[in-house]
Amino acid sequence: MNGSRVLVLNSGSSSVKYQLLDMTDRTRLASGIVERIGEGPVADHAAALKQVADELARQNLGLDSPELAAVGHRVVHGGTRFTTPALITDEVVEEIEKLIPLAPLHNPANVTGIKVARELRPDLPQVAVFDTAFHSTMPEAAARYAIDVDTADRFGVRRYGFHGTSHAYVSRATAALLDRPVSELNTIVLHLGNGASASAVRGGECVDTSMGLTPLEGLVMGTRSGDLDAAAIFHLSRVGEMSIDEIDTLLNKRSGLLGLCGDNDMREIGRRMGEGDSEAQLAFDIYIHRLRKYVGAYTAVLGRVDAIAFTAGVGENSAAVREAAMGGLTAFGVEVDTVRNALRGSGARLISAESSRVAVAVVPTDEELEIASQTFDLVSD
Ligand code: AMP
Repeated sequence: MNGSRVLVLNSGSSSVKYQLLDMTDRTRLASGIVERIGEGPVADHAAALKQVADELARQNLGLDSPELAAVGHRVVHGGTRFTTPALITDEVVEEIEKLIPLAPLHNPANVTGIKVARELRPDLPQVAVFDTAFHSTMPEAAARYAIDVDTADRFGVRRYGFHGTSHAYVSRATAALLDRPVSELNTIVLHLGNGASASAVRGGECVDTSMGLTPLEGLVMGTRSGDLDAAAIFHLSRVGEMSIDEIDTLLNKRSGLLGLCGDNDMREIGRRMGEGDSEAQLAFDIYIHRLRKYVGAYTAVLGRVDAIAFTAGVGENSAAVREAAMGGLTAFGVEVDTVRNALRGSGARLISAESSRVAVAVVPTDEELEIASQTFDLVSD
């Protein structure tokens, strides 16, 4: 292999996000998004990727460049089959297709992106990096639901976890910030974006995470409910006479912050709270209550917590969420410095007080860089 560049593709159902990175110095050479696939001029994923290729060619960074070492694809669900990044072959594509029932909204677009990219550059190594892979180290005690084992195994009903590239990246970046080997550090990572998940990471390995079979479980999110008594679904079906698809849409698209107060953007919720809006306040309180429960649970899971890292849109930007989530945890060894917490900054930074036993940090995530690194590592071997 000669080149040092990796093209990262994140193919969603209606958009393709791309970044071209140079792995010699980990810099970003180009990035962009092609949206509204299926509407108007961008007929399908093939047309979208053609547009990406044309755009890169315009910047003299075309797909035919000898500098391009590989393409790294984000794939949402790797099931129990993929616990590490995989060099893409026909067999790997088939295996990812077999996982579509577990991620019907995501894996089909990921597969399409892979197929189209392989057609464009059949000779180029392409790598699938899975959102679930980092969580594959979870012990069975954390990964299994307490349901009939045969039924669970037959249908793959277990906890897989998502946002894995982010949790992997942030747990390592936190160790780097603290100048400690990741192998010695126990970290709780709070990925709070529109989707949100927490993970407990012991010595660099995930031991628990809040998302489960699908990204619906766990924290309160922008539009997803997070944890819910599964019997609520039976109730909505039997008494509410809702169809399974309607309940799916309710819990994934019309719940969370949006369902609670009509807004899923934490900035807008903060603004409304400032005006004394009680609906927005209650949505915030429910969001924080759930988050604190997971911090408490993962403190018990880990036994000793060295660091708590906030990341993604809300985690990186909302001082109010961080302060509310960490307040009153002095008995846990957690003390946030309100001045540090309120300071805005772009890089990884500590927000805990000097006296805090647990380091609390804001650590910007970079899923594309993580995908590019994992891709480059695999093809450089
Ligand atoms: P992500 O999914 O990581 O892109 O995060 C998106 C979410 O981050 C948005 O829905 C906002 O709620 C939140 N967000 C972005 N910027 C801010 C900010 N300055 N303050 C509070 N929340 C923010």
